[in-house]
Amino acid sequence: MRGPHVGQIQNYACHCLGLESYFRRPGDGRVHPSIPARDVVWAVVIGHILRVASFLRLEWLAHSPVRSELGLRGPFGDDALAYCTERMDPETTRMALAAALRQAKRNKAFENSRFIGLPLDGTGAGRTYKEACPLCDPIQDPQGEVHGQLHHFVLISVVSVGGLTLPVDVEPYGPGDSEYAAAQRLLRRAADHLGARFADYVVGDGEYATAPFLHTSGEVALPVVARLKENLPLLTAAVRARFDGRPPQAVFEEGGDRVEVWDYDHFDPWETLDWPEVRVLRYRQHKRDGTTVQAEWLTDFSIAKLGSLSFYRMAKSRWQIENQGFNDGKNRYGMEHICHHEPHSILIVWLLILLALVIERLYRLRYLHRGDHGIRSAMDLCTYLWLSLGSRNPPDPG
Ligand SMILES: [Zn+2]
Repeated sequence: MRGPHVGQIQNYACHCLGLESYFRRPGDGRVHPSIPARDVVWAVVIGHILRVASFLRLEWLAHSPVRSELGLRGPFGDDALAYCTERMDPETTRMALAAALRQAKRNKAFENSRFIGLPLDGTGAGRTYKEACPLCDPIQDPQGEVHGQLHHFVLISVVSVGGLTLPVDVEPYGPGDSEYAAAQRLLRRAADHLGARFADYVVGDGEYATAPFLHTSGEVALPVVARLKENLPLLTAAVRARFDGRPPQAVFEEGGDRVEVWDYDHFDPWETLDWPEVRVLRYRQHKRDGTTVQAEWLTDFSIAKLGSLSFYRMAKSRWQIENQGFNDGKNRYGMEHICHHEPHSILIVWLLILLALVIERLYRLRYLHRGDHGIRSAMDLCTYLWLSLGSRNPPDPG
């Protein structure tokens, strides 16, 4: 069979990313399983690559004539998907994701990048008006009236500066918990699963520029790059006093934009932060369309280890999680949709969506790219896979 097809993706996942043993034993907690967990997990993964997000539509695929082409051994109902995902151990899937990313790094998936970062960010998904589950956070208007519920989680990804972004893990947080506490649990776990020296830095928005989070980063031996905002008034005032009214220390041409930078590494830490000093970069980015963006970022990287331009690029890598993490996950891969409204199942499905994103992105950008099959976008691949299903002679991908 020529060209990309589902069987080739399954082979790639099992053999190139080393996921074969995970698919055989994905952490099934059922006592008397009638449907193999392997089929359940693969159905959710390949279903999300094919943009089939609901359990009912996966049931329809599992009863269709292309079942074996999809890599599924037998038919099953949507209730089996719900029952199995409620009882899976999330740790097994989290370890598999980290192992696949370590394998991708060994396969030189990030080869063009000098620095690998771990961006973190929180979001909400799966708005519902049904009866609340323990993860449901009520959405209140300014008058305190509740308009449905939302499920919150923090996502951590791997980003190579200017290049590939791949998700690593998620940590949900419900009422009584916080993004901030969830992010610290997530960073500790991801650093442990990915191993020492996998990444070079952690990057987050202003909410992460707080002493406990910066200390957590230090605990896992990773320098951190965080946005400086008004929540640190003393440091913000010191930065203004030093940078305002002075000419920039350097000017770069970056991606067609002109970027002016101010960079100083001897600011005093605020009282709860145990760093000896704080380095702050201010950039003013003049875009080709005439607009200007100015922002300030702090770090514990020394100037000797990290130049101003690399610091600027690391700060900018924070936005890749928006573009390639949440937006892809929500808009294209169905993270917005809750398959089965039960907290354990919600978490397992989110983790399987991350696994689907990792497999799809590496297969498309690193595997297909070598053969120059002419497929570049996720939508092209999805369409091509649908066209080739059930066809003995799939179309030439051109
Ligand atoms: Zn809920």
